[in-house]
Amino acid sequence: MTCTLRVLGCSGGIGADLRTTSLLLNDNLLIDAGTGVGDLSLDQLRKIDHVFLTHSHLDHICCLPLMADAVGGSRRTPLNVYGIHETIHALQEHIFNNVIWPDFTKIPNAENPFISLHIIELNELMKFDQFTITALPVAHSIAANAYAIASETRTLVFSGDTGVSDDFWQAINQQKNLKHLIIETSFLDHEEELAIASGHLSPSLLMQELGKLDQKVCHPEFQVWVCHLKPDGADAIMHEISDHTINSVTQPQKLTSNTVLHF
Ligand SMILES: [Zn+2]
Ligand SMILES: [Zn+2]
Repeated sequence: MTCTLRVLGCSGGIGADLRTTSLLLNDNLLIDAGTGVGDLSLDQLRKIDHVFLTHSHLDHICCLPLMADAVGGSRRTPLNVYGIHETIHALQEHIFNNVIWPDFTKIPNAENPFISLHIIELNELMKFDQFTITALPVAHSIAANAYAIASETRTLVFSGDTGVSDDFWQAINQQKNLKHLIIETSFLDHEEELAIASGHLSPSLLMQELGKLDQKVCHPEFQVWVCHLKPDGADAIMHEISDHTINSVTQPQKLTSNTVLHF
């Protein structure tokens, strides 16, 4: 059984037709809840049972409160929201706090609320019918994680937001049959200092990081997808990446909304 991942949004910002990070897996699981979620119909929103968050930054969670409000009343069970301790704590403290947004973990009642928050641990493998999902370590400006999603035969890794990290690559190098690696590159090479300070990558840093990947874990059709490009510099970032990878076997491609990946 293969899995299907549809990109609802994967930009580092909004404007024109850009949408922020949100990936829909097999119609009922969402990874991050950026502005891409806003394109889904009510029926599509209602089908989502699980939301896995990479971290609590607004571009990755902004549609979660609105989504809970839109479909919470017409779902039979709570929407399950997963994240590492820091992410879940931030949602409770700063979003669902009855100031920014109602506390939907207790509405309409604590027994059967609109949303249910779940803390997950790094490297903990969670089993679903058609796949497993595991949170992997990354290095960002706040606590954050990546996700590895493995079907019976292939694996997809999504970095979320990350800067330079050895732990992330050690975790990737434990995977099998890696078919897709979706990885961020937020800034241009001349902005490397800013990239490092904010826990993001530039094209040079991406190349340096890809050098840590053990080719033995890669599927023959392995593909690197670049996401989270800052809207202002998106084309220039991709040019810099292709300049760096001119003689490379793996030519990273730009991920865009509506791309569908099978694995
Ligand atoms: Zn972030
Ligand atoms: Zn981000």
